[in-house]
Amino acid sequence: MKDDCIFCKLANGVIPTHKIYEDDEFSVILDANPATKGHALILPKEHAANIYELPDDTVAHAFQLAKKMAAKMSDKLKADGFNIVQNNGETAGQTVFHFHIHLIPRYKEDKQLIGWKPLKLSDEELSEVENMLK
Ligand code: AMP
Ligand code: ZN
Repeated sequence: MKDDCIFCKLANGVIPTHKIYEDDEFSVILDANPATKGHALILPKEHAANIYELPDDTVAHAFQLAKKMAAKMSDKLKADGFNIVQNNGETAGQTVFHFHIHLIPRYKEDKQLIGWKPLKLSDEELSEVENMLK
């Protein structure tokens, strides 16, 4: 645990939460300012600021848990869809620097916006990026 990290305290029960799941590695709690009904956060009990700092096996378990929780929450909440969101870095929207996965049930009339403005790139521009990344 990192002493000055709020999510370490939430994940390890130092501060009370609305907890919907717990095992040896993770707590899953309701987000205090939810995007929709049921919006929850998967928090590893071990501190890591982001996906790069989290050990590979914990990353794998976290996303397996995300799949399991998405199915269970969709069923219980009768959601119409489901977003799984994970932000790394301030530029990407991360505000709390302890790795977490957002579990966001979606409802036909929820009027939430989770997305981006699509860019129009030429084939040459796409090829340039492809060459940088492959
Ligand atoms: P992010 O922007 O990906 O870092 O997400 C941080 C999330 O943590 C936001 O959705 C906040 O509403 C949520 N959050 C911050 N503090 C608390 C807290 N004390 N309990 C529950 N959720 C929190
Ligand atoms: Zn932490």
